Amino acid sequence: MSFASFNLHPQLTARVKALGYKVPTPIQMRAIPPVLAGKDVMGLAQTGTGKTAAFVLPILERLLPGPRRGVRALILAPTRELAEQIHVSIRELGRATSLRSCTVYGGVGVSPQIQNLRAGVDIVVACPGRLLDHLAQKTIDLKNLEVLVLDEADRMFDMGFLPDIRRIVKQLPLERQTLMFSATMPDDIKRLTDEVLRHPVTIKIGHTAPAHTVSHALYPVAQHLKTGLLLELLRLTDAESILIFTRTKHRAKRIGQQLDRAGYRAASLQGNLSQNKRQDALDGFRNGSYQILVATDIAARGIDVSSVSHVINYDIPDTTDAYTHRIGRTGRAEKTGDAFTFVTPDDEPVVRNIERVLGAKIGRRTLEAFDYGKPAPKRDAEFARPPREPRARRAQPAQGQAGARSTRTTVKEALHATGIDRASRGAVRTMKTTPVPSPTRRRHR
Ligand code: AMP
Repeated sequence: MSFASFNLHPQLTARVKALGYKVPTPIQMRAIPPVLAGKDVMGLAQTGTGKTAAFVLPILERLLPGPRRGVRALILAPTRELAEQIHVSIRELGRATSLRSCTVYGGVGVSPQIQNLRAGVDIVVACPGRLLDHLAQKTIDLKNLEVLVLDEADRMFDMGFLPDIRRIVKQLPLERQTLMFSATMPDDIKRLTDEVLRHPVTIKIGHTAPAHTVSHALYPVAQHLKTGLLLELLRLTDAESILIFTRTKHRAKRIGQQLDRAGYRAASLQGNLSQNKRQDALDGFRNGSYQILVATDIAARGIDVSSVSHVINYDIPDTTDAYTHRIGRTGRAEKTGDAFTFVTPDDEPVVRNIERVLGAKIGRRTLEAFDYGKPAPKRDAEFARPPREPRARRAQPAQGQAGARSTRTTVKEALHATGIDRASRGAVRTMKTTPVPSPTRRRHR
C-alpha cells in the first residue's frame, strides 16, 4: 500500500513525499480511509506509530476545499510539548495549503493566543485547561467545529483532564466527526469513548506496529557508580542523540551539568524551567545542537524526537508502563535505537515485572574497563537513592493504577511491537561490553 492509494490532494501527497514518508505505517493504513470517509475512529496506538499523520492528513484533506469560516478542527492533547509537535506536523504536512493552525496551552501568555485566534485559524491544537479559559472568556468560537480529536486520551485521563474534556465536549456542535487515540484502554477511557464517539471504527495497533528495531540492555551497577558508568558508556557509544531519564528533577539538572562539564553538548529538562528555557532545550535537542537531553518522566512527556538513537534509564522507572513510554522515544518509525537501563540490586523487583510482562529476559551487560569495585564515598549524600519526586496534583500519571489489567496486556503488546523480544539477542552497537549470564554474577564485576 502506498500513500497514493488514499487519493489525497496532490498538495498533501507532495508534502508526504517531501517528508520522506515512503509507505504508510499500520495505523495510517487502517485509520486514514475511515477518517476520510467521515467516520468516528478509536485508534489504540502509542506514540511513535505515526498516529499524528493518521489524523492530520485526513483533516487537512477535509478542510482544504471548504470555506474559511473559523475553527473547523480541534485537537486536544495532554501536554504543551505534544500540542507543539502536532502543530508542527500540521504545518509540515499542510505547508502547501493556506490552512492555518495555532496552539493553545497554559504556562505562557494568553495575548498571542488571542491574537492568533482573532486573525483566524482553521485548526486549534489545545490543552484542555487553557482552552476552557478561552471558552469562558469567549476568545474562541467553536460553533463551526467539524472535527474533534482527543489525542493520548489515556494520558489526559492520567493527568486528571477528563472532567475538563467533558466540559469542552458539551460546548461543541453535536454534528461532528470525533477521533480518539490512546495507547491503553482503561475503563474510564472506554466510558468516554461511549459518550463522545458515534459508532466508531476501532483500530488496534499492537504487534502489527512498525518494525521497530530497539535493542535493550540492563547495566547492573551500584547506585554510587551510576554517573561514572554513564560517562564510560557515553565514551564507548557512538550515538547521534541520547535521551537520559532520571527519577528526580534535581538529579536531571545535576547530571546535565556534569555532562556539560565533561564536554558533552547536554541540556536538562525539568519541571522548574521557564517555558522559554524548556523550549530552548527541546529545540536544541531536536536540531542537534544538544546531543544529550536529561529529563524526568514528567518533563519529557510528549517529547517527539524522531531521531533519538539511545534512551538511557539512569534510574529505572517505577512501572512497566513508564518503561514502555520511555523506550517508545527511540526506534521510532522504523529507525533503529538502543535502550539501556541502569539497575541496582534494589531494582530487581521492577526488572522482574518488566521481564514477566514482556515474557523475555533482557540481556545484562558490564563494561570491561569500568571499575565496579570502587567503594561508595563515606558521606553518600551525593549518590544516595534520590527521594521520590513529589506527586504533582495534575501532572502525575496514575500509572499502573487505573485499568491495570488492560494496561498490562497493551504494555506487553507494545513491548513486543518495539522489538523488545529481540533485546536479549540484540548486540549493542559500537560498544565493548560483556554479557552477564547469571543473576549471581550480575552483582560482581
Ligand atoms: P507519531 O507517532 O505521530 O508521533 O510519529 C512518529 C514519527 O514518525 C514522527 O517523527 C513522524 O514524522 C514519523 N512518521 C510518521 N509517519 C511516517 C511514515 N509513513 N514513514 C516514516 N516516518 C513517519
